[in-house]
Amino acid sequence: MAVKITEECISCEACASECPVAAILPDGNEKNPKDGILYVKPESCVECVDHADSPRCAEACPTEGAIVWDMPYTVDFNSYYLTGNEKGEYKIREHKTKGLMLPEVKEQKFRADITMATREAHANVSDF
Ligand code: SF4
Ligand code: SF4
Repeated sequence: MAVKITEECISCEACASECPVAAILPDGNEKNPKDGILYVKPESCVECVDHADSPRCAEACPTEGAIVWDMPYTVDFNSYYLTGNEKGEYKIREHKTKGLMLPEVKEQKFRADITMATREAHANVSDF
């Protein structure tokens, strides 16, 4: 990851079509572990690195606090995402031969200019 969508989301779906890597799933999608809100697949989100100057989803979102920063999808945060997956916070894709597509299997790009404090606070993406 990544960014993530919170309970503030009003399911307007303005963000999903803006994602350059199709990382945002609508409410009701079988791969979306959430109920009533959209979901960002952390194993797919690249924080729009190489696509835009800032996350496109957040630019499209009309709702304060609906799209927030999450931890980078890197090996340093492998257990963070594994634990989150076990708790149902995430639903990491399971590959037939590679198993769960955790950061230790495939890291994703992230914005190095976003501080860890900002990520830990899950600060609103639009504020940065
Ligand atoms: S930050 Fe970019 S890549 Fe990640 S979910 Fe939003 S639009 Fe997609
Ligand atoms: S644009 Fe914002 S409020 Fe609308 S579905 Fe996406 S996250 Fe939710």
